[in-house]
Amino acid sequence: MVVVHETRASRVLLGAGARLRVPSEVERVGASRVLVVATSSAAAAGDEVVAGLRERAVARFDRPVVHTPVAVTEEAMALVQAHDVDAVVTIGGGSAVGLGKAVVARAGVAHVAVPTTYAGSEVTPVLGEIRDGVKQTRRDPVLLPTTVVYDVELTLGLPAGLTLTSAVNALAHAVEALWAPNPTPVTDALATEACRLLLAALPTVLDEPGDVAARSALQQGAWLAGSCLATAQMGLHHQLAHALGGAFDLPHAELHTMLLAHVVRHNLPHAPAAAQRLAELVAGDPADAIAGLAASYPGPRRLRDLGVPEDGLAAVAERVASAPYPNPGPTGAPAVLELLRAAW
Ligand code: NAD
Repeated sequence: MVVVHETRASRVLLGAGARLRVPSEVERVGASRVLVVATSSAAAAGDEVVAGLRERAVARFDRPVVHTPVAVTEEAMALVQAHDVDAVVTIGGGSAVGLGKAVVARAGVAHVAVPTTYAGSEVTPVLGEIRDGVKQTRRDPVLLPTTVVYDVELTLGLPAGLTLTSAVNALAHAVEALWAPNPTPVTDALATEACRLLLAALPTVLDEPGDVAARSALQQGAWLAGSCLATAQMGLHHQLAHALGGAFDLPHAELHTMLLAHVVRHNLPHAPAAAQRLAELVAGDPADAIAGLAASYPGPRRLRDLGVPEDGLAAVAERVASAPYPNPGPTGAPAVLELLRAAW
């Protein structure tokens, strides 16, 4: 077998206070007319960046929406055109970064991404957009942000529920990379280290949300996990999250959190190398360890808690089984339905 590993260059800054370097990073890419996208949760950081950019901050947008609806992108594009923007700075979770990618796809400008969650979109060349209720996904190297700035200080206030679901979302990228059909020594190393960082740091952060070292470990794990998502083929876990999310309009990160332990239990008997790596990282059974993490904060635990009807599961199982993503465990409709029932 011939292994192919392709990496695209993104410049990455990592460290407490790194957001203060955004203006010099904008200068480095030669931009002078910047659209600053900052979610309301990142308003203060947005203010800092705008102040640092001074006259180079020509427009601001603060309403990115999950799954990047085209109508919202068009609002941002009106600013891009009106102000002749040549770079976008995005500060926020995957929704803000996604909007930046959507602007890049249309205007070809530079993109400095400053993520404040663990979603990992900032290191992938992938964009999902919603048009007329239909999600379309594209993969193109130009979508990879020019520069990524990881500043742990922007994550210290991430509420416990979001911290848990976002970190388990990241863990899912790494776990699926461990059993992907196209592993390379690089994705194996990234995925193993991502799992180690995320599994070790998450309990500490849930206990002590302001623990800077543990928060930093989570952010580094999210970076590595996102890098796995960029290159490894995702399997049943991501397919189920997409299929359920699309069918019942469910929150992305919560879904990952309630599904991952079930998919791990389903797949590990068929993925011995992944099973061994995960078992070395947790004391005991990996599925139990992930289920324990998912249960460590009050919130919706089961698909039924999100309002998924039990009689809707069979149709999802059929759809998944009709065109399965590559996956080590069984992907026939009966097996998938059994998994979904357990998560329900
Ligand atoms: P999000 O960006 O929608 O943020 C969720 C909520 O958290 C928002 O209300 C936001 O304001 C708030 N928030 C973000 N950071 C915060 C902080 N530090 N403190 C307090 N509140 C904060 O959620 P997400 O899970 O980061 O991203 C989800 C989106 O990203 C989806 O659209 C998903 O499809 C996309 N995504 C894309 C990729 C990709 O590779 N293309 C990868 C992962 C996720």
